[in-house]
Formats: sequence, C-alpha cells, structure tokens
Amino acid sequence: MAEFTMELNDEQKEVRDWLHGFAADVIRPAAAEWDEREETPWPVIQEAAKVGIYSLDFYAQQYFDPTGLGIPMAMEELFWGDAGIALSIVGTGLAAVGVLANGTEEQIGTWIPQMYGDPNDVKVAAFCSSEPDAGSDVASMRTRAVYDEAKDEWVINGTKTWATNGGIANVHVVVAVVDPELGSKGHASFIVPPGTPGLAQGQKFKKHGIRASHTAEVILDNVRVPGSCLLGGKEKLDERLARSREKAKASGGERVKNAAMATFEASRPAVGAMALGTARAAYEVALDYAKTREQFGRPIIDNQGVAFQLADMRTQIDAARLLVWRASWMAVNGKPFTAAEGSMSKLFASETAKTVTAQAIQILGGNGYTREYPVERMHRDSAIYTIFEGTSEIQRLVIARTLAGMPIR
Ligand SMILES: Cc1cc2nc3c(=O)[nH]c(=O)nc-3n(C[C@H](O)[C@H](O)[C@H](O)COP(=O)(O)OP(=O)(O)OC[C@H]3O[C@@H](n4cnc5c(N)ncnc54)[C@H](O)[C@@H]3O)c2cc1C
Repeated sequence: MAEFTMELNDEQKEVRDWLHGFAADVIRPAAAEWDEREETPWPVIQEAAKVGIYSLDFYAQQYFDPTGLGIPMAMEELFWGDAGIALSIVGTGLAAVGVLANGTEEQIGTWIPQMYGDPNDVKVAAFCSSEPDAGSDVASMRTRAVYDEAKDEWVINGTKTWATNGGIANVHVVVAVVDPELGSKGHASFIVPPGTPGLAQGQKFKKHGIRASHTAEVILDNVRVPGSCLLGGKEKLDERLARSREKAKASGGERVKNAAMATFEASRPAVGAMALGTARAAYEVALDYAKTREQFGRPIIDNQGVAFQLADMRTQIDAARLLVWRASWMAVNGKPFTAAEGSMSKLFASETAKTVTAQAIQILGGNGYTREYPVERMHRDSAIYTIFEGTSEIQRLVIARTLAGMPIR
C-alpha cells in the first residue's frame, strides 16, 4: 500500500505539466467557441487523441497509480482548461471504467478500443444509468433486460436520460433491471454495440453549463444484444443474484441497498477533482484581475473586502484538494470509507466550485457578468458538480447515514 502523500513525484509532475500545457494551449482557447456552439468538440478530442490524452492507456495509467493522485491530478488540470470540453474528453472514461470494473478480459479487449476509436477516427462512449423516474433513486430503474435463452440474446427496453454522449456514442453501456425484486442489486450492465437496431437518441438537452458536452436521452426499443454483451457474463450474474437473494432474505433488503451505494464512494473523488479544476481556474482569473484592476487610485486587491474573498477562495480550494486526494488514495488502496470520505470530498469540492466561481464574478464586477471573461462560463459550468454522480443532498445523506451507522436508502 502506498503511503498517503500530498507531494507529487517527478513523473507525476511531468504528467501534470504536460496536461496543463494541453489545457492552456488547446482546451482553454477553444472553450468559448464550443460553449456557444453547444456541440461536441470533435477536433479537440482528436487533438487529445493524437497526443495520447484521449486513450485507454493514459486513463488506465492514472487509474492504477498506487498513490491515488493520478486521476484527481489529471481531472483538475483538464477541467481547469474548460469543463465542457474536458467532459467531452473524459466522458468516454466513465463507460470504460464500467467495462473495466465489471467486464471479462475478452469484453475489455473487444469493447474499450471501440469506445475510443483511433486518432484518425475518434469515437466516444456513453454510460447510461439515469432514467426520467430514477435519478437519485437508482433503485427505481425501469429499463428491463430479459434473457432470450433460445437465441442467447438479451432484449432491452426502456428510456435512459441525461446520458453524456448518449446517442452519439459508438458504444453504449446500459444499466438495466434483470431482477426487479432485488432493487439496485438486481441491475446488470450491458454493452450495446455500434449500430444495434432499436437504440436511438431522444431529446438532446440545451443546458445551463458544460455546453460543449453532449447530453441526451437514449431510447431502447426491443434492443437485442448477444449474451456475450452482458458485462461479466451470465454465470457470474447468476451467482451474484443468488447471493443477493440470500442476503435480502437474511436482512430484509437493507444490506443489498448499502452495498450498492458503497460502490459510488470510489468514483466520487474524481468528480470532486473536476470541480476543483473549475474552482482553481476561476480563482486564478479573479486573483489576476484583482491585482490589475484599479479603482479609487489603487488595485482592488488593496481593499480588504476583495482580498479576504480571495483568501477564502484559496483556502476552500486547498481544503477541497486535501479531501479529494485523501479519498482517491483511500479508493486505490482499498481503505474502507468508514465516514463516507468519497462523498465528503465530492460534496465539499462541488460546493466550493459553485461558491468560488460566484465570488470570481463578483470580483470582476460588470466584466465578470459578461461572456468576454471566462468566469461567467465557469460559474454556469460549476452548477453541474453538485448534481451529477449524486447531488449534494445525496452526498449529505450518505455521509450522515454512514456516521449514524444507518442503512443507506
Ligand atoms: C449534464 C448532465 C450529465 C449527466 N451525465 C450522466 C451520465 O452520463 N449517465 C447517467 O447515467 N446519468 C447522468 N446524469 C444524471 C445525474 O446523475 C442525475 O441528474 C442525478 O443523479 C440527479 O438525478 P435527477 O436529475 O433525477 O434529480 P432528482 O433525483 O429528481 O433530485 C431532485 C432534487 O431532489 C433532491 N433529492 C432527491 N432525493 C432526495 C433525498 N432522499 N433527500 C434529500 N434530497 C433529495 C436532489 O438532491 C435534488 O436536489 C447527468 C446529469 C446531467 C445534468
């Protein structure tokens, strides 16, 4: 197990500087344009693919970094560049992690390359879990997958919503109910291969922020996928369902729900790190502005009212990074989240991003309120962090129930 450290090693510093360069030179200059266009920034994804940032290799290298700092460091730098574009670059990773975590070696080898494509023909992937009536309450999911034994095929029907890259993805990973009695433990994940009949994009959402990231409904109408598209395979699923039925019988269902909620703890710090990137970006713009903007014959940072805001912003950002890095280290090293430290990090970092970006607008005055300056966009972008991957209320609920030793529903 790696010791927890806040000190990046030389190799990590090199990667961080490389990512920062890409974020500063390629992502940030393109941010306003793609925000206005509200379209997937394919040319920027392609650039990222060419230099090796948009690839499974890069993602896996950071993901398996034993210090736990690889992913949060990468997320912070890319989202520092721009949240919408960065989400277009890392969105495929969400689906890839679903396959890495649950898939067989053959599934990983077959599908992950198709999620990314290649630098001359980049592709994206989507992870589809949320539904119109199953957002925070994942256990209410209705999308149903039924096994057709005669053909060794799964038949999937339902409507997914809010899917990042939904409908434009080459590969969709779809979570569906296979045993309605088991709540979230009766769910399984399926690969829907490119061009499968019955999968269609529904509404594409016009959003408040992260507008360079495509978000849409995905309609599944009698989608048939081969048995080999069930992640992990049928035997493993049957064993898992049998175990869950036993546990549900023994505990009235509570342990089943707890186990499902716990799996999110490990992925939440990465979202915290995204928020950190946006917060740091806005803070830096505000700090520069406060040093150079003069009113009443002196830089506005000479006013304690402005300087104290900057002091608070920086303090919150550094505190958020401590929580995010700690939780990432815990996740990679298999430390139990006895106080829901993953949720804590996401809660604090995402709320920090909202507060800090709002303060940045205030420090820039009228300029901060316009699209001539990036803090307006950063503030709009920041609102997503308290919503996706579990809202702030759900993070508080998980933390509170963990502290109380109560089951998480
Ligand atoms: C831009 C964007 C991208 C997304 N990308 C994806 C994706 O790629 N894949 C995917 O599967 N999903 C994705 N999501 C979905 C996201 O995870 C959900 O929006 C989120 O989980 C919240 O669900 P909901 O929107 O249905 O809100 P609801 O669950 O309806 O919540 C509404 C409000 O009620 C509060 N609330 C609900 N239950 C409780 C409770 N028990 N106690 C206190 N308060 C409560 C919530 O905190 C919130 O404030 C994305 C969403 C957005 C906006």
